[in-house]
Amino acid sequence: MDSSVDRIGDPWGGRVPYGRHGRWPARVDTFLADGVRPDMVQDWVRAASILHSDGDAMDIAVVDGRMVGMRGRADDRVNRGRLGPKDLYGWQANASPDRLTRPLVREGGRLVESDWDTAMSRVVTRSRDLLAERGPGSLGFYTSGQLFLEEYYTLAVLARAGIGTNHLDGNTRLCTATAAEALKESFGCDGQPGSYDDIDHADVIALFGHNIAETQPVQWMRILDRLAGTDPPRLLCVDPRPTRVARAAAVHLAPRTGTNVALLNALLHEIIRTGRVDHAYVGAHTVGYEELAARVEDCTPEWASGICDVPAARIGEAAELLGSADRLLSTVLQGVYQSHQATAAAVQVNNLHLIRGMLGRPGAGVLQMNGQPTAQNTRECGADGDLPGFRNWQNDAHVADLAAVWNVEPDSIPHYAPPTHAMQMFRYAEQGSIRMLWISGTNPAVSLPELARIRSILGQERLFVVVQDLFLTETARYADVVLPAATWGEKTGTFTNADRTVHLSDRAVDPPGEARPDLRIFLDYAARMDFRDKDGGPLITWHDPESAFEAWKRCSAGRPCDYTGLTYDALRRVGGIQWPVNESAPDGTDRLYTDGIDWAHPDVCETYGKDLVTGASDGVVEYRSLNPDGKAMIKAAGYVPAHEEPSGEYPFRLTTGRTLYHFHTRTKTGRVPQLNAAAPDVWVEIGEADAAARDLAEGDLVEVRSPRGALRGRLRVTELRPGLLFVPFHYGYWDTPAGSGPDGGAAGRAANETTVTDWDPASKQPLFKTAAASVTLVERGGGQQAPAPTTTASAPADRTGVRPTAGGPGAHAAQARDSAWDTDAPDAGVRDTGVRDTDAPDGGVRHTDVRRTDVRHTSGGDR
Ligand code: SF4
Repeated sequence: MDSSVDRIGDPWGGRVPYGRHGRWPARVDTFLADGVRPDMVQDWVRAASILHSDGDAMDIAVVDGRMVGMRGRADDRVNRGRLGPKDLYGWQANASPDRLTRPLVREGGRLVESDWDTAMSRVVTRSRDLLAERGPGSLGFYTSGQLFLEEYYTLAVLARAGIGTNHLDGNTRLCTATAAEALKESFGCDGQPGSYDDIDHADVIALFGHNIAETQPVQWMRILDRLAGTDPPRLLCVDPRPTRVARAAAVHLAPRTGTNVALLNALLHEIIRTGRVDHAYVGAHTVGYEELAARVEDCTPEWASGICDVPAARIGEAAELLGSADRLLSTVLQGVYQSHQATAAAVQVNNLHLIRGMLGRPGAGVLQMNGQPTAQNTRECGADGDLPGFRNWQNDAHVADLAAVWNVEPDSIPHYAPPTHAMQMFRYAEQGSIRMLWISGTNPAVSLPELARIRSILGQERLFVVVQDLFLTETARYADVVLPAATWGEKTGTFTNADRTVHLSDRAVDPPGEARPDLRIFLDYAARMDFRDKDGGPLITWHDPESAFEAWKRCSAGRPCDYTGLTYDALRRVGGIQWPVNESAPDGTDRLYTDGIDWAHPDVCETYGKDLVTGASDGVVEYRSLNPDGKAMIKAAGYVPAHEEPSGEYPFRLTTGRTLYHFHTRTKTGRVPQLNAAAPDVWVEIGEADAAARDLAEGDLVEVRSPRGALRGRLRVTELRPGLLFVPFHYGYWDTPAGSGPDGGAAGRAANETTVTDWDPASKQPLFKTAAASVTLVERGGGQQAPAPTTTASAPADRTGVRPTAGGPGAHAAQARDSAWDTDAPDAGVRDTGVRDTDAPDGGVRHTDVRRTDVRHTSGGDR
């Protein structure tokens, strides 16, 4: 298959089929800048992908101190050499000419260039003044899912024990909070039960609200390779959009948005009714089965059909697929997490596995996915949600244990209430109790719901806003101080993907200008604030990435996310390793819960649980009485309708989401020529029947309006389910004349102009999938087409006259078999067919030699 492929037009590349229980064969993907040949590369530096949660291992090509390309690592367990389009091309954003290179401070209403000492002095002065005048609760920290573990941990220590504030959260609240909460509700503790390797063994793969083809394209390649091999898995897809997953599925259910709990309850009903429950597993490892059985007793497919608008027979087929699987793998993402009754629905997927005994064996597992590359680390390190090391804020012994690790008094770690979630922090800022908000690596002026409100909060005179980022984002334009940060490839650190695989990413090049690694910025702040432990020594005793990692290892010891057996050297030597890694599992751990549900015991669990409807926290007494021995908890939930239903004025349901080619608010991907050209502007998707009924057509400029605001975009007519509109959420204003919001009173461009301020009661994750909206024609397309990819879920229903998405010669990437990694494959059926799954024109243009050369094992060493 050694060949070159346009990986914009053919995002998943060529197939290497393999059979069930086989080893996924390697395929090495490489993209080098125009004019760079492999023999010109001076260094290959180890890294992992930063533009999604897959954790694809890759090597950065370096020539003369510049990044010039990317190559997948054939020996890594996660991707076996493959890279997705954002991995291949995304690195180019790092060298954008508009990177921030110097700190900025606000003078006379304008941001002007400054120096680090001036900028940090302003931050420290404001911090000290607020601590003296208003106390620690007046400071809040809102971070990202894209920094490194060492940075989150340092931030968590300085915020919780240094400042003493409870207001620390990540934008992972928008993304992965429900995954964490669902795992805690079912298993007492966060921690992904399954492994990506389960894809190799499953006979049924069920994807709930998870468009894996676009969110984790490399694991989709793995599924495609299995679908092309012997004994392929059958897929169940639950998604209202006609995604690539839906097109490959044996059964596709496209429910009304906001009805996941009704659908899942009907699936559970059918599994119980048809006698597919593993009663031995349920008896040995769970509590709560009787309540679930009673709750779903009346939830027939016919009942759910009326709520979800899915044929009852199709629900029956889906239940048959789930019930007949002998190794079932389920995955869950934003179609559940960002929708109504998010945690309740995600927990029902866990229940499906618990009652079928589908856990802890190869091919039988749950992947409650993450969206961001380092989302898992915010959760582990206490920068999103709970206390570091999955410690329980309600358990005094856990707080005392953490205090001992930090050498502080337990009372100095706030634990009077659950850590404040992002939506509440913005509410506190709106009300005036938070007076300083330090925002690192995220862009709430585009990514939070109801943007007019967010802009007005960030724009308040009394709120001191610090923004730490790579570019002058929409949010940075509201800042009082802007700190220029280094990004991956310019700094060293570790991060952990959605299946607990830890990777090390080394510094390959210098950051531009005076930009600094986030870790260095946090350490500088801690030193200037002179945070002390209870004996008067420095609170933070580490000084670089590796010493921060060693400090984190001490904090993680004995907890589920135990890193004590990991070292930077081991990560350089082996590549990705799955935690826990400790004395009893020195090589890492494929799957959790192979031997029972060991982290649900009342003494060790991360949470005592919540009411799934109200979000009220349970106490230790309730938990002990429900679950004295620590078993998985089967928690039932009834369906309740979404808060905002369509009306005469707003007759559609509106859902938002992403495309394969962009990440978040396009801060990076919008600056990458190949990615930006594939999806250059916002669009609006509508189903064929709805378009015909309103006399709307491809390319028409339309306005989408909700009770909160409006946006305009060109229309793409797809096979979307009736009554639904879809808008991608990536598009903001940094590349428009206005810069930070809609121009004057004009309709906006960002999807979140229209979304609702509402969140899941248990996980506090904002809801982006259930708003009511209208759509009206602004202007005929006149032959224009929507700026939407044709390769993905946004493919037009009728391709006539629609130009297919292609990247052209500038997007050609090499793909090569690396048979060295196939030798122990038990599967005899591996063959190189070069079969592709898209109908896009195949590149096949140039053949590039991508033989492996030595990778530089740098010693890290951030500036
Ligand atoms: S794009 Fe969605 S899934 Fe990805 S990180 Fe952002 S919120 Fe999470």
